[in-house]
Amino acid sequence: MRQLPFLLLVALLAAALTACASSPSRPARPSFAIAIHGGAGVIDKATTTPEERDAYLASLRSALAAGRDELARGGTAMDACEKVVRILEDDPSFNAGKGAVFTEAGTHELDASIMDGATLKAGAVAGVRTVRNPISLARLVMERTRHILLIADGAEQFATEMAVERVGNSWFDTPKRREALEKELEQRRRGVTGDDIARHQDYRGTVGAVALDTHGNLAAATSTGGMTAKKWGRVGDSPIIGAGTYANNKTCAVSGTGTGEQFIRHTIAKSIAAAIEYRGMTAHQAAHHAVHGLLDPDDGGVIVVSHTGEIAMIFNTIGMYRGAADSSGRFEVGIWEEVTK
Ligand code: ASP
Repeated sequence: MRQLPFLLLVALLAAALTACASSPSRPARPSFAIAIHGGAGVIDKATTTPEERDAYLASLRSALAAGRDELARGGTAMDACEKVVRILEDDPSFNAGKGAVFTEAGTHELDASIMDGATLKAGAVAGVRTVRNPISLARLVMERTRHILLIADGAEQFATEMAVERVGNSWFDTPKRREALEKELEQRRRGVTGDDIARHQDYRGTVGAVALDTHGNLAAATSTGGMTAKKWGRVGDSPIIGAGTYANNKTCAVSGTGTGEQFIRHTIAKSIAAAIEYRGMTAHQAAHHAVHGLLDPDDGGVIVVSHTGEIAMIFNTIGMYRGAADSSGRFEVGIWEEVTK
């Protein structure tokens, strides 16, 4: 009986410790998380009308909601990423699929890649001209071949064998992108070169998604029309694993957007994963280091989700179309520095 006060004290202490452990000040690790982007660049606030801004935000919200819902019902990160990227490819506002930029020759050549963080399997296509959703063809390369990257005619032949949906090359045309091509060609005729070339809104862009699913698996997917007036079969970083796309369950999933040559040079996506793995950085620190320490100003941005569900969206351009959601109820989209619910 004399032990009663002591036992009471122990019980009280145990209760206090349990309360601390589940305290709301220590946010629980999300069971799923997703981030998406629709390209980074000179997205001029002054010349973007409120209607244009709202239309972009609405597109981002609906793509993000589709990805979030897929993950919330226990779907895989691969399915969520493919689904989001297909939606953004079909949306003419973004430079991927319908609405892709024009090559110098007035055509469209599309690049895409996808990577499964659980197996390190990946698939990619470059320079495809008639595939409505290049991201799905990239996934088929991963799932149905022994290869990772198929290009141009070979990729088209594979698309025929896989019976994926095809469209004529001009199906990807949009007036906005044609105007951007004409502007670019005019600048070239006037002898404007190098970094001064068409630093305008429609010069580039890309779409991408990264996700952590409730099974603990990561995936990343990226799709693009590349850069306005690109020449000679130019391919950027988007279909290059380790440059524009990377996923590894040990660390993170990354999708990039910006000057492809710079992303390839600095193997941006893999560098972020390496900084997490070897230097113990958080996703935010690693992405910040890559974008502000490796890339040049105005080169672009990245979205990252780590194996713990941490999301980072970092860019060194004026804006980046982007969105993030997770199992805690977070749901936000943004273009410039602000984020709206
Ligand atoms: N990274 C893409 C490319 O270089 C373009 C972009 O994201 O803006 O093809």
